[in-house]
Amino acid sequence: MKLPIPWGRLSRRNARQLVAFLILVGVVLYVRSLLEADEKIQSWEQPLDVAVIQLTPDETPIPDEFTRTFFAPSSYPADRGTSLHAIPRWLRDESVRLTGRDRTLIRFHLFGPTVFREPPPKPSDSFFGRIVAGFSFRSYLKRVATAASVDLSKFLVKLVLVYYSPGKPVDKHSDSYGSFRDHAGLVYVPTAIADIPYNVAEITHELMHTFGAKDKYDGRATVFPGGYAEPFKAPLLPQRFAEVMAGEIPLAPNRLRPVRGLDELRVGHETALEIGWLDDETVRRYYKGGRRTRE
Ligand SMILES: [Zn+2]
Repeated sequence: MKLPIPWGRLSRRNARQLVAFLILVGVVLYVRSLLEADEKIQSWEQPLDVAVIQLTPDETPIPDEFTRTFFAPSSYPADRGTSLHAIPRWLRDESVRLTGRDRTLIRFHLFGPTVFREPPPKPSDSFFGRIVAGFSFRSYLKRVATAASVDLSKFLVKLVLVYYSPGKPVDKHSDSYGSFRDHAGLVYVPTAIADIPYNVAEITHELMHTFGAKDKYDGRATVFPGGYAEPFKAPLLPQRFAEVMAGEIPLAPNRLRPVRGLDELRVGHETALEIGWLDDETVRRYYKGGRRTRE
């Protein structure tokens, strides 16, 4: 039997309302899951499991000597941070220095290397460009996970390392990427032993983005005071360390030096606030009071 027209219209309207309602519920649940993940990361109550997914763009083998050095068991700080495994130790030391709490903060889980030919999406600086780049990065990450057999739901934080031959022109700094919204980062890694200390610092920088830290450089300039590891040192320049989100050591006006190892990187108070290590009040007092560092 055919429904009378008013009922038919009503049910179509109901159906539309139902679809709109379900979409809304879906969006609310999605946003809530993201916020829960944000909170979980920044509470630092449990060690964070970080999936480190290694990719190579072709079958060119990674030199054995590089792999041996890059993945060497770390004796940080004695080794100055010349292997990937120094990063969890460095983060722990920084937490002790700033918060007094000594605990395991992150654990790396390595996957690959997997041959994956699709080039990673490029990050963008514009507002709309960032939205589009975010979408393409998320779908890229899903394809990467499938290729590398990684169950993304098991890892709160994801880090993709894209290896390339040192001779290849890649702007590894501006093309590397780290996002708090996605809790994921991507870093280009040249397979050159001499570059490892810098790469480890770069990976640390992108990893800090996935915890909520923001950049503290503006073009070639270091933002003051947040981008300084010791903003109240007298004289201010040269600095001894680079703030991890500024990435380079300010030596003199307009003169910066890239770090040579993790031991030259420090977490500044503003970054510590952004990643949930310190509270607002402590950080405000620190910058207002000009407290000298303990070092
Ligand atoms: Zn950055």
